[in-house]
Amino acid sequence: MTQSKVMTGVYIACAAAACAAAAVIVSRRLKVRSQKCTARKILLEFQEACYTPLARLRQVVDAMAVEMHAGLVSEGGSKLKMLPTYIDRLPDGHERGLYYAVDLGGTNFRVLRVQLGGLEGRVIKQEYEEVAIPPELMLGTSEQLFDFIAKELVSFVAREGQDFRLHAGQNREIGFTFSFPVKQTAVNSGTLLQWTKGFKVNDAVGEDVVAALQRGIERRGYKMRIAALVNDTVGTLAGGRYWNNDVMIGVILGTGTNACYVERAEAVSKWAGDIPKSGEMVINMEWGNFWSSHLPRTYVDESLDNESLNPGEYGFEKMISGMYLGDCVRRVLVRMAQEACIFGTPVPHKLLEAFSLMTPDMSKMHHDDSSDLKVVAEVLKRVYGIQNTTVGIRKIVVAVCDTVCQRGARLAAAGIVGILKKIGRDGSAANGVIKRNTFEQSDMNGFHDEVPVHYTSGGRTVVAMDGGLYEHYTKFRNYMQEAVVELLGEGSKNVVIELSKDGSGIGAALLAASHAEYVIS
Ligand code: ADP
Ligand code: MG
Repeated sequence: MTQSKVMTGVYIACAAAACAAAAVIVSRRLKVRSQKCTARKILLEFQEACYTPLARLRQVVDAMAVEMHAGLVSEGGSKLKMLPTYIDRLPDGHERGLYYAVDLGGTNFRVLRVQLGGLEGRVIKQEYEEVAIPPELMLGTSEQLFDFIAKELVSFVAREGQDFRLHAGQNREIGFTFSFPVKQTAVNSGTLLQWTKGFKVNDAVGEDVVAALQRGIERRGYKMRIAALVNDTVGTLAGGRYWNNDVMIGVILGTGTNACYVERAEAVSKWAGDIPKSGEMVINMEWGNFWSSHLPRTYVDESLDNESLNPGEYGFEKMISGMYLGDCVRRVLVRMAQEACIFGTPVPHKLLEAFSLMTPDMSKMHHDDSSDLKVVAEVLKRVYGIQNTTVGIRKIVVAVCDTVCQRGARLAAAGIVGILKKIGRDGSAANGVIKRNTFEQSDMNGFHDEVPVHYTSGGRTVVAMDGGLYEHYTKFRNYMQEAVVELLGEGSKNVVIELSKDGSGIGAALLAASHAEYVIS
């Protein structure tokens, strides 16, 4: 064989190899393209199902106002429990002395002390400590849970500095923030209706939670008095009102979500007690359990609900709150992984685990503004061991986060506007004019309860807001604000949503002060 023939043979072999390699690359690209195409289809379908245009939001607003009314009329009249809280006066700045709060929320447990100095001194000093709740206690017995709370409280009190002083003869009085649905029987007693947010301490259901905590404290040999049992929304409302008279609504957007507001006592038809002197009553809505056929429910919500600890309950919360948003995203990613193999085969095992994607990680991915979405890559690798994702796939992941976040935020905004509508502060009532339009007559678009003049004075309404989701998830907060403006138009200028950080804790201490046995004047 001549040298040129050998060279030709080599060229042919090389060309064939190059062709084969090119074919592999093309086929891989085609596969990636087809994966992306299927994933995009799943995304589009999901976006469509989650869509919350203004018209739909308005329906949610009206449904919220109507359900609020129904829940006030009779026990069980609505999925909104609309629980009277027995709080008929809110702190106004006159409170004095040393008070405590215990705050059992969802993820963390807080203890707090505050020294109050009346109108001139206000909050002289405050201190708090936060402890994560051991997960086993969330599924244990009532005695274990309340023992843990009592132990933390007692050790916090034992480490008190000289700057905090009880008045001579004053008992330690505590505001107990307990952020689960409770049927109150007095300002400082109430039975647990059910657990939410991943708790399941079965023997505590139906129990008086104040008595349970009181027993825990006594077992440790301490004498303290629980002066007020408050929901975290009520604590937030009270904490906001202490500084600002325009605060009418308290909202929580954290692990769970809920709202409360100041209602005219006369509008609470199911209230059998005397009408309080103030003529007002704070109502704990338990809005997490709100439901309406106008809510955009998808396959994700159905499967999440079926696998949750409280199926069929708290549907609004499951679309909105921090405990669930990450899992909504995960469920869409699972579908993409199974049907479009976007994360290779087999589907990463951990991705199939419920609640493995936490909302703070979802939020990190959503806020990733690097050109190659390196934060998304980092989170997928750290949480699921997923490597080598293309930028295209990462963009799809971000779009899923955006869809879930936007839907939750817009629905939360509709909820708030629903409350404003119920109390005649959504700007649609004529200023200062009493508008009568009862539930039965309601045309849904002009729904208003009968409202006294001061509720429609056209003044500012402040919503005191607390919770890690609202505080830390910037895009959620922005989408929510945008939707409030969309819904209220010009009227939104009179509505202010104010972050009242840890307001629920201090609010409970303030309520302990305003409901104390020993009042310091
Ligand atoms: P809780 O509701 O348990 O009283 P928080 O109000 O502190 O506690 O809220 C904690 C919740 O807020 C977390 O469970 C999480 O869902 C959400 N969250 C906290 N940090 C972030 C974040 N960076 N991005 C999005 N959500 C967050
Ligand atoms: Mg909380």
